[in-house]
Amino acid sequence: MTLQTALAQGAKLLNEAGVAVPRLTAEVLLAHALRQERIYLVAHANDELTELAWIHYGRYLHEKIRGKPTQYITRRQEFYGRDFYVAPGVLIPRPETELLVEAVLNRTQPGARILDIGTGSGCIAITVAKESDARVYTTDISATALSIAQRNATTHGAIVQLTRADLASAFPDQCFDIVISNPPYIPEADRKNLAKEVRDHEPASALFAGADGLDIYRRLIPEALRVLKPGGLLALEFGVNQSESVTQLLSAWHAIEILPDLSQIPRIALALRPHRSHPPSVPSFSYDIR
Ligand code: GLN
Repeated sequence: MTLQTALAQGAKLLNEAGVAVPRLTAEVLLAHALRQERIYLVAHANDELTELAWIHYGRYLHEKIRGKPTQYITRRQEFYGRDFYVAPGVLIPRPETELLVEAVLNRTQPGARILDIGTGSGCIAITVAKESDARVYTTDISATALSIAQRNATTHGAIVQLTRADLASAFPDQCFDIVISNPPYIPEADRKNLAKEVRDHEPASALFAGADGLDIYRRLIPEALRVLKPGGLLALEFGVNQSESVTQLLSAWHAIEILPDLSQIPRIALALRPHRSHPPSVPSFSYDIR
């Protein structure tokens, strides 16, 4: 069987199974079975498929039809121009998150110390480390995530300090210039409406955050207040319809900016840490309680 025929058959199977963009998906899976880039298929359309490639291809098609995200089959996702290794156990990086990274890169001072909370594949921390001269630290509560992030850091030659910890708990007060995070933010109530591919395959711990999706922000924002230097920047991604609630949770912060994603949905919050972390409890004297 030629590559061309294999492609046509694969696309037909995917199409019948209701998979979106069947032809492109078949191309991606066939290229992966051949351990080649997709462009290879064009020049080699009339080559014969080897027995081994055929076995791989058949398995990938089967996995895809059963609902596995393509990126977990090919084990890769591009993010900010780099290929990241991904596997079940980490969230597949999304294009919205590139905007979060870009917003931070535009506001990074030379030599800044940056903490990425909940690194998953490491896409945020590694990109920031490669695109700036910042000293980048990152945490995740999941050992699987940390080992995947480490693998990506090594592949890209990025210097990132990875720590297994809940949020910023491993770090002392006021030691960062910037805290960045794309935490889990989907409300439990939305679980049933989520695409099956996402719900059944991506890690629940990377997706959901309590009844209203705000549980992590409720803990993360005070933690960021603690570890940021006065005037430091907090940059957060949030979900659909969460702009107001997140702004409210940031009410003690300064210079709040909300940025939209490519679909014009409010998606990113930026805020500066106030110089005082709490209002003085007795309003008669003004103390510097830093
Ligand atoms: N920081 C990682 C990403 O943006 C993981 C995020 C998560 O698991 N919620 O892809």
